[in-house]
Amino acid sequence: KAVSRVPPWAKIALPSGPNFARIRSNLRELGLATVCEEAKCPNMGECWGGEEGTATATIMIMGDTCTRACRFCAVKTSNAPPPLDPMEPINTAEAVSRWKLGYVVLTSVDRDDLADGGAAHFAQTVREIKSRKPDMLVECLTGDFAGDLSGVEQVALSGLDVYAHNMETVERLQGVVRDRRAGYHQSLNVLKRAKEVRPDLITKSSIMLGVGETDEEVEQTMRDLRAHGVDCVTLGQYMRPTKGHMKVSEYVHPDKFKYWEQRGKELGFVYTASGPLVRSSYKAGELFIGNILR
Ligand code: SF4
Ligand code: SF4
Repeated sequence: KAVSRVPPWAKIALPSGPNFARIRSNLRELGLATVCEEAKCPNMGECWGGEEGTATATIMIMGDTCTRACRFCAVKTSNAPPPLDPMEPINTAEAVSRWKLGYVVLTSVDRDDLADGGAAHFAQTVREIKSRKPDMLVECLTGDFAGDLSGVEQVALSGLDVYAHNMETVERLQGVVRDRRAGYHQSLNVLKRAKEVRPDLITKSSIMLGVGETDEEVEQTMRDLRAHGVDCVTLGQYMRPTKGHMKVSEYVHPDKFKYWEQRGKELGFVYTASGPLVRSSYKAGELFIGNILR
């Protein structure tokens, strides 16, 4: 089953706000890639245009080429992406510390070609940011390091504030939606391990709706996240990036998203963001600062 017409609640608003324009021009000068721009994220206006000190941006490190090929993702794929730039952790930290950002999300493509999956590079980037701007809240949204939990440990112990790893979908649809090297239990174990090595860390995950899941399966996924110590969950509508990608099965009604937000509270998540346009790092700065982290 697939639907093609985009209902009004899933339509995208154009970004605006004074911080938005300033950050974008900074980005151009610094040559950094943000997921916000690359993915044409519908929330740029809100995230980047947030009040000073709460503005959020998601920066992509370790290149623009992924070793995996998930069916929903627009990032390009290769078995042999270019090597890591050893200066990237320092350059990223320099750039980030010059912005009026309160919250930065570092994420990356999956690098199955690297022995440690890029864990040391991730951890170094966090340390470089924190050494320049100890107050900056840093979230890492990592891959699964192909199940190598020592990679998770390195990142979890790097000094970050929030460890995020996305389930993306329910258990039954993992093989349909994600690359075959990903997996439901492998992902749950990433989140569990991050919490085990640093219990004060906030852990977070994200589920896309509208890819063919049932309500029971969403409920089960949320329960499994709680059972693995996950603190925060975000639920958003899957949008097909191009016609070559997996089709949308359903545009989930905003009332249903509200229902999941309520379920999230009942299941004991400290924070649940659920809505058609919610993405994994949606307004993270605004929501985390003053609510959970400070
Ligand atoms: Fe996209 Fe991440 Fe999948 Fe790579 S691992 S294809 S970046 S979703
Ligand atoms: Fe960027 Fe994430 Fe906000 Fe989208 S939700 S604008 S990707 S920080």
